[in-house]
Amino acid sequence: MLKVIFFFSSVHAISEKNTKNKRKRTTGKEIEDSSERKKKKKKQYRPNYFISLPITNPEITSSIQAVQDAIIQKDQRLSKAMVRSGSLHVTMLVMHLSNEEEISIAVGALADSKDFVEDLLKGKKVDLSFQGIDHFRNEVGFVKLPENDHTTKLTEIAETMKKIFQEKGILTGEGRAFKPHLTFMKLSKSTELRKQVVL
Ligand code: AMP
Repeated sequence: MLKVIFFFSSVHAISEKNTKNKRKRTTGKEIEDSSERKKKKKKQYRPNYFISLPITNPEITSSIQAVQDAIIQKDQRLSKAMVRSGSLHVTMLVMHLSNEEEISIAVGALADSKDFVEDLLKGKKVDLSFQGIDHFRNEVGFVKLPENDHTTKLTEIAETMKKIFQEKGILTGEGRAFKPHLTFMKLSKSTELRKQVVL
């Protein structure tokens, strides 16, 4: 089992997602809409910013690299789907920010989250372990985090942050519960690949 320990200070700044790929996450608001309007909303509310914990522990990144290499050995085409070592992360929150004003509100919400998160941590560390792999919809390969007190705390932190952002009017989430995971490959990195390969 591989471990990483984090404090609030290790949370990534709000990062913009690469919005080049067409088929992406959705925030859930669009569920209310139908047909054409639904399609438009889906595009409109697609998450384009996220907050994550960078995973940089060399023991973890090199083990993931070994898994990626083994997969590529089986099928060279999948190399395009691999998440680079420097980009490995655990996503805490995704959101849709439409303009500079919303970006600055989100930056404020992130700053506000600090005290709440520190209250939750009560000076303790969150010690994340990674073990075993799984997938979402045969399209995203990820390393699992075992259920324990640490992941429960991480979930509390993610939910608290989501609430803080939502209270400020930020459109967050993808309409599903927080499930901590560490993505190491996703077919969405290549449109061609998604058409050709099923994991
Ligand atoms: P991430 O690891 O947050 O970069 O997410 C990688 C991909 O996994 C994105 O396309 C997400 O939409 C998708 N994803 C994240 N969490 C879930 C989940 N609980 N169920 C299904 N797909 C998910």
